Amino acid sequence: MLDTRPADPSKFIQGRTGPWEVILGLEVHAQVASKSKLFSGAAVGFGAGPNEQVSLVDAAMPGMLPVLNRYCVEQAVKTGLGLRAQINRRSRFDRKNYFYPDLPQGYQISQFEFPIVGEGVVEVERDDGATFEVRIERLHLEQDAGKLIHDLSPSESYVDLNRAGTALMEIVSKPDMRSSEEAAAYVKMLRTILIYLGTCDGDLEKGNLRADVNVSVRRPGEGLGTRCEIKNVNSFRFIQEAIEHEARRQIEILEDGGRILQETRLYDPNKRETRSMRSKEEAHDYRYFPDPDLLPLELEQAWIDEIKASLPELPDDKRRRFMGDYGLSAYDAGVLIADQAKADYFEAAAKGRDAKLVANWVTNELSARLTAGDLEINESPVPATYVAELVDLLGEGVISSKIAKEVFEHVWNGEGSPRAVVEKRGLKQVTDTGAIEKAIDEIIAANPGQVAAVKEKPQAVGWFVGQVMKATGGKANPAAVNEILKSKLGI
Ligand code: MN
Repeated sequence: MLDTRPADPSKFIQGRTGPWEVILGLEVHAQVASKSKLFSGAAVGFGAGPNEQVSLVDAAMPGMLPVLNRYCVEQAVKTGLGLRAQINRRSRFDRKNYFYPDLPQGYQISQFEFPIVGEGVVEVERDDGATFEVRIERLHLEQDAGKLIHDLSPSESYVDLNRAGTALMEIVSKPDMRSSEEAAAYVKMLRTILIYLGTCDGDLEKGNLRADVNVSVRRPGEGLGTRCEIKNVNSFRFIQEAIEHEARRQIEILEDGGRILQETRLYDPNKRETRSMRSKEEAHDYRYFPDPDLLPLELEQAWIDEIKASLPELPDDKRRRFMGDYGLSAYDAGVLIADQAKADYFEAAAKGRDAKLVANWVTNELSARLTAGDLEINESPVPATYVAELVDLLGEGVISSKIAKEVFEHVWNGEGSPRAVVEKRGLKQVTDTGAIEKAIDEIIAANPGQVAAVKEKPQAVGWFVGQVMKATGGKANPAAVNEILKSKLGI
């Protein structure tokens, strides 16, 4: 596979005998957000009782025929467009033959030679705000298998076919990632795109987004090494850990003069190691052939265009717009766009205001409280209009930024809008120069030593500012305090 990315020595892993480059490609299985399965009308839902969502098609009863779910196809097309990928107007379903006890058909209906979506590209953001591209090789539609349950009985295994036949999009990347951080960042970005599009819920815990990671290592400048595939990694942390352990394992084998066997491995998060699951099959082992029960899939361009017109603004476009229109840093824009609802919240509050200040409140104070309370942005007790009002109060000079934090706390606790809290609690900034002068006169009179010191060293005025703030309960307007202090102290 073509490898176009220049080597980046900062990502090399140091081995005993020198540096190594890690090459990563991902196959992500994303469950299509849909009410029913890919080829049957059975419901798709989380939390149903065992085998409650199984049609005769899913159970592969004799004579049952698959009927393609148009909505699942639409979701795949939408995803392909979101990945800025080629939509193939003609694709085909194939049978991938293998035996698995939770796969009653004895084969999986998938797409092999002619996938519905071809090459695309995802722009991924690093933690520092810089971006890199991951090329997409393909996206195809396929069925999920059921689930075997081994731990309910000491002597028997059970099968739950609820998941059998659920539509999956397998999204295959090119080997464009060079570190475990990049791989995790790619999956995060992919997840964000899918959630924006509404084509997958992206819930890793429920298993509706699972990653298979292809890992190989090579000495810088050499050709691609033999890869191992780590199956079904289901958290960002495990993706990173699994890659790091697998890369180390391969480096050690190669440095000891051994060679890597192409195989499928599993990551064990408890032992923090990958272990061999099976030697990797080649495509020909599956005896793929066109599914005779399904016609080739042909899409009309007009329908694709219609779907394209319905796409929401994509995360990378939104990030660029936030940076351009609102002057946000790449980092702040990245934090906001990572959550579509948070981005909407920000925009609702930022209209016609100091957007950077609004972004600060949303990404810092508000986000910290949401995280601590395990709340989503749409569960926030503080609506966007209140953040807007708080920023207005700051802009009008009614409160200082220090008091704003206090106001926010009361607003968070349900005491009402920021204006109401300021009013009720008497938190208005004192701009009445008479009151400020009085406080300053008292402090000057009581501290002759400090007065002498500040005349020598004018920077020491900070001490006086602190005292005035203390005396006024933090409500004195800082600009007014500074001005009056300077004139009274003659500095
Ligand atoms: Mn697959």
